[in-house]
This record gives sequence, C-alpha cells and structure tokens, in this order.
Amino acid sequence: MHYDVIVIGAGSMGMAAGYFLAKSGKKTLLLDSFSPPHNKGSHHGETRIIRHAYGEGGEYVPLALQAQKLWNDLEEMTGISLFSATGVLNVGHEKTDFIQNIISSSKTYSLPLETLASPEVNKRWPGITIPAKYIGCFEPASGILKCESCIRAYRTLAEQHGATLLMDSKVNELSVHDQRVTVKTEAQTFSSDALVISAGAWSRDLFSMLGLNLPLNPVRKTFAWFDAGENLYNHTNFPAFTFATSQGFYYGFPSIDGSGLKVGRHDGGQSIDPDKSIPEFGQLDEDRTDLRNFLNHYMPSVKKLKYGKTCMYTLTPDEDFIIDLHPVYSNVAIAAGFSGHGFKFSSAVGQILSELISSGKTEQNIAPFSLDRFN
Ligand SMILES: Cc1cc2nc3c(=O)[nH]c(=O)nc-3n(C[C@H](O)[C@H](O)[C@H](O)COP(=O)(O)OP(=O)(O)OC[C@H]3O[C@@H](n4cnc5c(N)ncnc54)[C@H](O)[C@@H]3O)c2cc1C
Repeated sequence: MHYDVIVIGAGSMGMAAGYFLAKSGKKTLLLDSFSPPHNKGSHHGETRIIRHAYGEGGEYVPLALQAQKLWNDLEEMTGISLFSATGVLNVGHEKTDFIQNIISSSKTYSLPLETLASPEVNKRWPGITIPAKYIGCFEPASGILKCESCIRAYRTLAEQHGATLLMDSKVNELSVHDQRVTVKTEAQTFSSDALVISAGAWSRDLFSMLGLNLPLNPVRKTFAWFDAGENLYNHTNFPAFTFATSQGFYYGFPSIDGSGLKVGRHDGGQSIDPDKSIPEFGQLDEDRTDLRNFLNHYMPSVKKLKYGKTCMYTLTPDEDFIIDLHPVYSNVAIAAGFSGHGFKFSSAVGQILSELISSGKTEQNIAPFSLDRFN
C-alpha cells in the first residue's frame, strides 16, 4: 500500500504529527510497536509540566507559547480537559543558569512571573520549606497537561481526518531510494513519498538504517506518588514545581483528585537498552532514597510512598532536541532526543513536522535543534 507520508512512532510527537499531516490532506499512515498512549515509552504517568519562561534557554519560549496555543485549540476542538493552570513554581539559587534563564525569558517575552524570596515561598505554600539561599520563580499561567489524554485526543482527530493507524506494528526495516520510502513490519511492507521518524527511545536503530549515527542515550527514570495532606498539596492550592537544588534537579505535581503528590528526579538515571526489560520502581535502592531525600529537605510533611513507576528519557549530549530534515533525504523529517522535557512541546513539534514534510520549512526557529551541531 502506498501513502503520502508514513509516521514511525505514534507517541507524543508522532501522534500530533499524524493529526497535522492528515488535516493538511496527506494520505497518512501511523505505525507503532504498541498502541499509544501506552506505558512502555516516554509518555505515561498521567501528568507533564508545561512551563513558558524556560529555564533551559530563551530559545524554547516561542515554541512553548505556540505549543500552549495548540493545546488550548485541542481542548476546544475535542471538548476534553487537557490543561490545568495550576501555575509552576521554580525553586533554586538565584545565580543558577536555570533560574536566570527563567527571569530573563520572562522579561524578553513579557511573561507573567512572580519572583519570591524564601520566606515568601514558605508562607504562601506552607507545604514547602526552602532555605534562605533559594528563591522561587512562580509562573501563574503555566501548569499541567494530562499527557495520555493529549495523545488520545490527537489520535481521535487524526483518525477523523482520515489517517490510518496500524498499532502493535513494529517497524523492522527501512530504506529510501530515489525519494521513495519503503517500510517493513513483521507482517507487511508499505511505501510512501515521505517519512517522519519519531520513535522516542528506540530512534537510534531506525536512524542508523538511514545512515545516521546519532548520540542518543535512552535512560531509565523513576517517579512516585506520595500520600500528602490535601489541605497543603491539593492542585487547587498547590502548584506544579521544579527544584534546582544542590542535591539534584527535582520536579513534581500537586495531588489531583486525591492522587497524592507526584515527585521525580530529572538528572541522573541509568543508561538502558529499551528492548531489554527495565528494573521496576524500587528494584534499585536509589529509587526511593533519592525522592525521600528531596522530600525530607523541602516538603517534610510528606511521608508515605504510595507507588512508583519507571519511564524513559532519550538524552542528547546537550539535552537539546533534534528536529530536522535528514541531511541526504529531504523527504524524511526526524524528531528525537527530547531529553526529558519534550512533552509540553509535542503539539508544536507535530505541527512543525507536518510543515517540514509539506514544504521543507517551518515558521518556528528550529536552528537550535539541528543535526549540524553533532558534526
Ligand atoms: C518520568 C518522565 C517525566 C517527564 N516529565 C516531563 C514534563 O513534566 N514536561 C515535559 O515537557 N516533558 C516531560 N517528560 C518528557 C516527555 O514525556 C518526552 O520528551 C516525550 O514524551 C517524548 O516523546 P516521543 O514522541 O519522543 O516518545 P514516545 O512518546 O515514547 O513515542 C515514541 C513512540 O515510538 C514508538 N516506536 C518506537 N520504535 C518503533 C518502531 N520500530 N516501530 C514502530 N513504532 C515504534 C513507541 O512505541 C512509542 O509509542 C518526561 C518524561 C518522563 C519519562
């Protein structure tokens, strides 16, 4: 069967791309090893933070704002609640790059931001205790995305616009000859004029089939929910948060509908092969001690672990994304290496991938995410 475009990997980025491609009139096939949303890649665990004033660098802000607009559009189109404006509190030493980038990008892009000294943070959110050396940067307009619901919403719309979804269909072989793409799963062979590769932690092997050896490092990550007093940690009175501390970089979510407080550690983790079985949460000593250590310091009233999970990051050496056209095959767009902070952008990345396939260019500035930087 021949398609205009095949998307390999219909997860966070791929499902959004599938929607935008199908909407633009392309005959689109989405292939996935599982049936997204699922709990085997990088997009499960109920919630993802969306921040606008961006600690990783001001170059991300236009992309974050476009992504937020597209999430709002998606909510409107489907009538499903996907975003909750809890605000995001970023805590750290004023001199860290992360905090400095937040302050400067809020000024550059006129984003609402409240900068609070530590006593003000402790007073406003009594569930938090931070030392005098840290400040809080509170973004009132940022918040939380329901990640699986976002993917489900794009999936429904992609199908409504005529995309074909073939789930539980892992791509094993891939080639491009004379601008014609051939893709093979266990059971079938497909061809297309163009290709999107958005295969998350499994991307490296697929890229190598097209002659690209990219420095992508899949990493095991853990996160967990804790029993927490609803009077202190409920999402109606407690924000999502990031903490750049001297013990590590942590993030988390308020208790939503009694779920408990969710906490994870952003730095660290163990390099893994995504095709092999990954130790479950709690099998490594540090799974519990890392999070306990954070809570003891900064949210000491949170005591009891409910349960934890594992997930995967795909790290690039600089932790910036890869969004580009293949250097040899201009009909192949790639999106990978989202380094543990990509979900919030997936609506905008899907739109960019569709634009790259349709016209070879996009209005967004994707220069910081180019393949050139690895040369
Ligand atoms: C614990 C955790 C917390 C995070 N928190 C945040 C956050 O708060 N905010 C934020 O913005 N980001 C966050 N992220 C990062 C974000 O979730 C990821 O960057 C994003 O989900 C990556 O999207 P992806 O499309 O690359 O991968 P995925 O969503 O995993 O999609 C890849 C898809 O490709 C499919 N696939 C792979 N190989 C093949 C093949 N050969 N054939 C067919 N299909 C294939 C997979 O089955 C999968 O469905 C977090 C990640 C984790 C793990």
